[in-house]
Amino acid sequence: MKTIGLIGGISWESTVTYYEIINTEIAKSLGGFHSAKILMFNVDFAELEENMKNGYWEGNAVILADAASRLEKAGADYIVIATNTMHKLVPEIEKIIRIPILHIADVAAGAVKKDGISKVGLLGTKFTLTQDFVTKRLKNAGLEVVLPDGKDIELVNDVIFNELCLGKVLDTSRDEYKRIIGKMKEAGAEAVILGCTEIGMLIKEEDSPIPTYDTTILHAQAAAKEALN
Ligand code: GLU
Repeated sequence: MKTIGLIGGISWESTVTYYEIINTEIAKSLGGFHSAKILMFNVDFAELEENMKNGYWEGNAVILADAASRLEKAGADYIVIATNTMHKLVPEIEKIIRIPILHIADVAAGAVKKDGISKVGLLGTKFTLTQDFVTKRLKNAGLEVVLPDGKDIELVNDVIFNELCLGKVLDTSRDEYKRIIGKMKEAGAEAVILGCTEIGMLIKEEDSPIPTYDTTILHAQAAAKEALN
């Protein structure tokens, strides 16, 4: 079994889910007492959040490249970054390490495509939705991507940072997300990618009028599969 280098804490609320799913998948595959070989570097999310607020992405690149490099030195075979947004910094991190990164957008694109879907909605932080580090990979995989409109992008982003990353799950925010997913459905989206690792805390399959693809679940399952590859 390969050793997973998991960069967590972004936020820790969603890393809990990664840890649980990865171990569950390994146990399911191998049976008995089997569990995953995981090296984890849990960052201090407050540092990353402060840097994002100030647009100081270079600072976040240093933090994440350092985390990945420590995991590589400790014996990780590949890196799993347990967040969508920080995938913005994959090119910087890849310059520092020799082991591969299991990219969250490629995993999501693969799952959506496998089900024959061609037009998909995307929810995530404003960085994920307004920059191309996720959307470009989805488009390169042949998917058409539907985004919320500008005001709704702000709302989705505020719920992530002011509520979900702090462990707050509010019914009023769920209603807003449902409304936004409904609009994406009207615009032709056949499914929606929950492209932020905390959204699964708020939106479950039954809350959505179209099928959901939760990047936390998909990424964690892919991480476990890769360990046995
Ligand atoms: N976990 C979130 C994501 O998947 C947002 C936190 C962050 O990385 O800034 O994008």
